[in-house]
Formats: sequence, structure tokens, C-alpha cells
Amino acid sequence: MSKTIIVSNRLPISLRHRNGRFEFKPSAGGLATGLGSIYKEGENIWIGWPGNTVDDPEQRAEIILELHELKMAPVFLSKADVEEFYEGFSNETLWPAFHYFTQYMVYNPEHWEAYVRVNQKFCDAILKKAGPDDTIWVHDYQLLLLPQMLREVLPNATIAFFQHIPFPSYEIIRMIPWRKELLAGMCGADLIGFHTYDDMRHFLSAVGRINGLSSESGYIQAENRIINVDSFPMGIDYDKFAKQAKSKRTLRFVEEFGKQVEGQKLLLTIDRLDYSKGIPQRIQAFNQLLEQHTELQGKVSMIMIVVPSRDKVQSYKELKEEIDLLVGRINSEFSTLNWVPVHYFYRSFPFEELSAFYNMSDIALVTPLRDGMNLVCKEFVASKTDQTGVLILSEMAGASKELQDANLVNPNDRQGVVDAIYNALSMPLAEQKARMKSMQESLKKYDVFQWVKVFMDRLDHVKQKQEELTSKDVDTKVMNEIQASFKKAKKSILFLDYDGTLTGFHSDPQKASPDAELRGIVKDLSEVSQVVIISGRDKDTLGEWFKGQNIDMIAEHGVWVKRKEDQGDWELYAEIDDTWKGDIRKIMEYYVLRTPGAFIEEKHHSLVWHYRKVESGLGDLRMRELFSHLKYMARGYNLQVLEGNMVLEIKRPDINKGRAATAMMKGMEYDFILAIGDDWTDEDTFKAMPKNAYSIRVGYAYTKANFNIKSVKQVRQLLQKLTS
Ligand code: UDP
Repeated sequence: MSKTIIVSNRLPISLRHRNGRFEFKPSAGGLATGLGSIYKEGENIWIGWPGNTVDDPEQRAEIILELHELKMAPVFLSKADVEEFYEGFSNETLWPAFHYFTQYMVYNPEHWEAYVRVNQKFCDAILKKAGPDDTIWVHDYQLLLLPQMLREVLPNATIAFFQHIPFPSYEIIRMIPWRKELLAGMCGADLIGFHTYDDMRHFLSAVGRINGLSSESGYIQAENRIINVDSFPMGIDYDKFAKQAKSKRTLRFVEEFGKQVEGQKLLLTIDRLDYSKGIPQRIQAFNQLLEQHTELQGKVSMIMIVVPSRDKVQSYKELKEEIDLLVGRINSEFSTLNWVPVHYFYRSFPFEELSAFYNMSDIALVTPLRDGMNLVCKEFVASKTDQTGVLILSEMAGASKELQDANLVNPNDRQGVVDAIYNALSMPLAEQKARMKSMQESLKKYDVFQWVKVFMDRLDHVKQKQEELTSKDVDTKVMNEIQASFKKAKKSILFLDYDGTLTGFHSDPQKASPDAELRGIVKDLSEVSQVVIISGRDKDTLGEWFKGQNIDMIAEHGVWVKRKEDQGDWELYAEIDDTWKGDIRKIMEYYVLRTPGAFIEEKHHSLVWHYRKVESGLGDLRMRELFSHLKYMARGYNLQVLEGNMVLEIKRPDINKGRAATAMMKGMEYDFILAIGDDWTDEDTFKAMPKNAYSIRVGYAYTKANFNIKSVKQVRQLLQKLTS
């Protein structure tokens, strides 16, 4: 039976040292609750760091046993690991980068080494527990390398990754010296989840531009499989918050706390200490409100809870000092004997008391400068069981994409925030209720349990989709079958496409000439079989590259043919009509002038617009423009416009590789036919093949071919096997 393994940097418990012994305190966080429905089932398990360093082997053994009971397994980190991997690379490089605080980014190669080392530690710990068919769900930015590390050892495992913090624009990601490795690490997963669509499109763009992996509709085409990237906004345990807000205990706290702030309108803010949360900016906005609307002095108070966090990191220490200073300043300036503007708590509160704060506050002011999701705003909404209250929410929080009925603000626009608070204080009750109701309905429906379910369902879906493709994979068994059938054959023919099939792509197409290995393969094959190179290349290039080889060649997708027995010239397979070229070339030239790096290639029957060397993104944009322009022209000339690998080609529709391949086989009886190719032009060849032929497409796109093969390297292996 396969099992599910949850992996996160921290286990859902805290390990505390007390009286020479270790104690566990379970975490009540939203993620732990949501994933409880998974890791507590059957053989499933949660692997992670218990949150404290333990050096004594005996104590470690004891902890392992105790955690085992709780269905957890620890990864022990040394003090150096914690400093360099967690505080260092995770929190001083990735965290600021991913939250757009590039001024705080540290580029320390030792921290990077520790990051690799600790990801490997996690990998080793998982491999002790994981079987080849298990499902492994890795969480968050501390473990970006882990999916790929696992994939290398467990190629068939189901691996998912979810990022809980934002994923920034390519412009930020490119600043990290180890960007390529980080992205490749994530691409070891089958499903990669983010909170919002923006995070997802940033990731797809970065993977395309940095790692050269193209994608379509959220599917990345990796070398040997597809990877799905999607957005899954995480919810909260809605019922828990709604229920707690009405509980006796919480209501008692509401009454008790309420006495201290009687007659005041309450503004609530709750955050972990973090520069991404915009805490100083919020205090300044409140300060401005009191200055601009003096009538509110004595009538509005802010309850500000800051939960201690990462206080060993310098930027956090400085932030704490700044907040202390600002609170001191506002309170000393405005306080009266019976009113304090800011009630500031630098500590965390138990759930019941937190619930009381949510319940009794009139406004929640949630204004992070950047936040992956933000749960506090959702918890506030869930706790407002009488549907009164106003949520002011930053547009920069992932949650703003779902909570459109909140009062959305730009946290950098101080006057905008001041106005939003002022308006919230006088919002009519009916409007408050209408907005709350709509937000509650949405949060109730998409709670954390639904989030887990949707994610897991999607993971199943991706695996199924991969299976549909890999069921046609040319594996060792298929290779042996093709080899045996080839050896038995009396008369065989091989149709081999050139670029992307026999050799990889080159930024300068003329430089992709056959290497010694390839020339050797073609020569060996030509001694035992009929070999046809079937390419879109022009006849002169092909003729030059395969000079002296005993093979047939089809050039320019079937315009020209050179048969080996003729030994001589190229034969024209199709009448050439050039009259259209002048007009079309003018249009293409206009797009070359506007697009540095683009160029035109003229073939006998077609014109090709190349954009391989154009700035990524721009090339695609111009190609689309040119495509629609040419499509319009093509109708008048009875031409066909086709999109290829970084090229746009316009040609006569009746000329294609399929037609040429059929003509080549005419009147012959073959008992072995093989066609290999890598793009849409080869699909014509595949379609033209008789039933008994082997047709293979390089890469894992949907195809008319009966098989897919991983890469050029594998194609060469297969061909070498035929003559071995
Ligand atoms: N929280 C808590 N105790 C406190 C204050 C906050 O447990 O005294 C919780 C809060 O209920 C919320 C979480 O801390 O679930 C903060 O999550 P959020 O996504 O808003 O911010 P993060 O800290 O993850 O950036």
C-alpha cells in the first residue's frame, strides 16, 4: 500500500527544553489542522524539524520514539544548520527576495551550501521512510531543492510542492545567483501550487526564461514528463473560528477586555514581527488619522498584537526597535488619563483570547506590504458571527484576490489607508453585513479542508495525465521490440527528421551540423537499411552535411528529393510558385526591423521567420502579431502559416513531409518502417505512415505517433541499438 508523506521545515509541534527534558507542544496552526486529515491516516507520516537543536544521541532516540507515536519523524538540524540554512539562506535570501525586499537580500555562498546540505538531509530522512510509489507533499520555500532530489532517487513517486509565500516576478528571481538550481529543484514535483494566479504566472515565466522550459495552460513540458502549475488559495478552519467566537470562554474574555476599552471603536492588527507586514506604516497611518480627524481622539483605539519572530536576524531587531519607537511616540503625544491610542502587545495569545479580540473589534486593519496569503484577515471574518465589522485589506496580500468585498487599500498610500479607516468607522450597518456575509460564504466554502482536497485531487489528475503520455514511452522493452523487429526485417526504411531529433537546437541554425557520432550512426544504419533524412532544411545544407553518405534525403518538407541510387542531383517533387514571396517578405522584413535578433530564411517553397535569438517574451509577442498578419495575407495566396520551434513558416499547404514520405515508399514492400520526428511538420509524416510502422515523437507533446521518446540522446541510443 502506498502512503502519503507530508514534509515541511517545521513539524506541527514545538519541542521545548524544560527541567532537563524535552516537551512537545502541538501546533494549532491552520496548515497543521488542514493536513491533519492526511498525516494521521493509515501509514502516513509528517517529516520535519522539531524546532530545537538536540545533540545528545540518547535524547534524539527518545524524541524519535515519542514523535513516532504522533505519526511524525524528526529531521535533526545542527546549530550551524539553523544559522546558515534557516536564519541564513531561507530567511535572509529567499524570504526578502520573495517578498520584494531586495534591499535585505544577503548573497552568501556558505548559506547556499548549507541550504543544499539541509535539503539533502531532509531527502535522506524521507528516503528512509518512502517507498517508490508513495506520495510526497513538500511545503514551502525552505525546501525548494527537495522535489528534484527526491525525483532522482524515486523517479516514479508522486511528488507535490506548495509554496506558502509569494513567488515574485522574474526580475527579482534573476537576482539570486542560484536561481536556476532553485527552479530546477521545484520542477522535480508533478504538481506545483501557489496561493494566487499571479504567483503562478511569475513562476512559469521564470522557469521559461531561466531554465528554458516552455509551458502552456499551466503545464510545463519537462524533459520526460509534464508538470502542472496551479493556484490553490489556502483557507482556514472556518467552523473552528466561528464556533470559538460564540463560546462561553471567549465571550467572558470579550466582556472582561471590553470593560478596559469601553465606548471606544476598536481597530485590530495582528502580525508576526516581519518587515513584510507594514507595521510601522500602519502606526503612521493611525497617527495621521488622529491628526486629521481630531474628533476621533479619545474615541478610537488600536489593539496591536505583534508575535515575536526571527528576532536573531538583524533586520527584525531593527524593525522591533522602530515599532517600539513609533508606539512610544504616538502614545506619548495623544494619550489622556483615560485613553491610550495604541494597546501594544509583543507576545502571542492563546486561541480563546485571540478569538475575543477578533470578536470585539470593529475594524481589522490588515495592511501587509506583501503577503503570500494572510490568514488573520480570514480568521477575523470567520469570527464575526453577527456579521458586523469591517475588514480593511491590503491589495498586496494573496487573500485580497478572494476577498473582493473587503475595503481594499494600497498599503503604501498612507492617505488612502487613513481614508479607508475613516470610512470604515462610519460604514452603515447594512453595508457591513452585506460585505461580511458575502466574504463568509466564500471562506466557508473554500476552507482548509477543501484546499487539501482540491490539491490532492489535482495531483491525481496530473498523474493520470502523465500516465496517458508515458504509456507510450519508448522504454527498454519497446526498444528491444523495435530492435528485434528490425533485425528480422528483409526490407526496412527509416524516416529520420534532423533538428530536434538527430541533433539538438542551436541558436544559429547553420551551426547544428552533424557531429562525428551522428555521422557514424547514419553510416552504420545505411549499411543495413534504407535511411531517409526528412527535414525542413534547404537542400544545399543537407546535401553538404551528408555528402558521401549512402542515404536518401527529403529537403524543405518535401520539395526536394535526392535518392541514393541516383547519386546525382536533387529532384523537384513539387512545382515551385514564387510569385507570392515578394509581398510576404516585405511584411516579414518589417517585423525583423522591429525585433532585434529576428531573421528571415528563404527556402524554395517557403519563407521562415526565426526568433530563437530574440529577447524572450518579445519574440513570442511579435510572432503572434506576425502570425495574425500573415494569416490574413495567406488566404489570398492560398498559403499556409505554421508555427514551429521558435519559427513561423509560410508555405504552400500541399507540400509536406507526409506526402514526400508516401511518394518515397510507393511501389515498395517494407516489412519494417520507422519514423522519428519532433514537431508539427513530422506529424504529417506520422499521419502518412502505414499501420504496421513504428512512429516516435521526441518529447511528450500529444502526437499522432504511436510512441514518445525522451530526448535526442535516447533517439541516438535507439538507432545505435538497431545496428549493434
Ligand atoms: N496567531 C496566533 N497567536 C497570536 C497571533 C496570531 O496563533 O497571538 C496566528 C493567527 O491566528 C494566524 C497566524 O498566526 O493563523 C498568522 O498567519 P498569517 O498567514 O496571517 O501570517 P504569517 O505569520 O503566516 O506570515
